[in-house]
Amino acid sequence: MNTKIIFSPKCLAYGEWHTENPERVSKAYDVLKQKRYEFLTPKHASEDDLLKVHDTEYIWNLKKGLVEDPDTPAYDNIYEYARLSAGGAITAAETSGFSIMRPPGHHAGISGAALGAYTRGFCYVNNIAVAVRHLELDTLILDIDGHHGNGTQKIFSGDNHVYYVSLHRHPHYPGTGAVSEANCLNFPLDADIGNKAYLEKLDEALSMVPLERFSAVGVSAGFDTHKGDLASLGLTENGYTGIGSRIKGLSKRTFFVLEGGYSGVNNGNDIDALLRGFEGV
Ligand SMILES: [Zn+2]
Repeated sequence: MNTKIIFSPKCLAYGEWHTENPERVSKAYDVLKQKRYEFLTPKHASEDDLLKVHDTEYIWNLKKGLVEDPDTPAYDNIYEYARLSAGGAITAAETSGFSIMRPPGHHAGISGAALGAYTRGFCYVNNIAVAVRHLELDTLILDIDGHHGNGTQKIFSGDNHVYYVSLHRHPHYPGTGAVSEANCLNFPLDADIGNKAYLEKLDEALSMVPLERFSAVGVSAGFDTHKGDLASLGLTENGYTGIGSRIKGLSKRTFFVLEGGYSGVNNGNDIDALLRGFEGV
């Protein structure tokens, strides 16, 4: 496979007891290593990179360990973990790779919880937003995580350089994304609709995007849509291969950033399925 995986074992050192736990990445890494993917090591994103997305007060509080909610603990050194995960997204954007770093990011808005959600849903820094702002290309963000990326929508709402397209289960956490507005297209879906109905909706969504305006695609790649996972839409590996082939069809410079997905083995197999579709192999 041509797409390289961005990973550092440093992202495995916190949150063993949490739903968003190290195994969801370590087991995915094991699967991808066995399948002979090549790996790149990320560097930390700079504070300036984070401040292109988040406000100063939020980053200051994050650094001091003062930001906490029932879903999203103030772990020791979480600012450094979050900065490395954001750096993984930047490396993915620069190399057209796939970052499997944690913590995830798409629920983190400009100053924390976004659009009325009362938690940050396991997210600290909006990784894909940091990568898009770093890349400075007009970018389509395709969010295939099973939850609406309320943070990403908040950050890019009204931004002429970015289009945000999300397919997600609804009603479900975080409760946002029921309707589209301006440059943010939302497709709320019933639970467990399955591969066929999902891919039909994805085709409809992509047909509504003015593709000629964009030179890059950033994918918020969550796999909690997998059958039985936290935001199940009843998808299987074949579904992810179908998603990958549609992203290939966009014919743009493309990168991928892991969001949710809470079975490490499924995550590894689903990433491989997605990339097989994307690379047409
Ligand atoms: Zn999710």
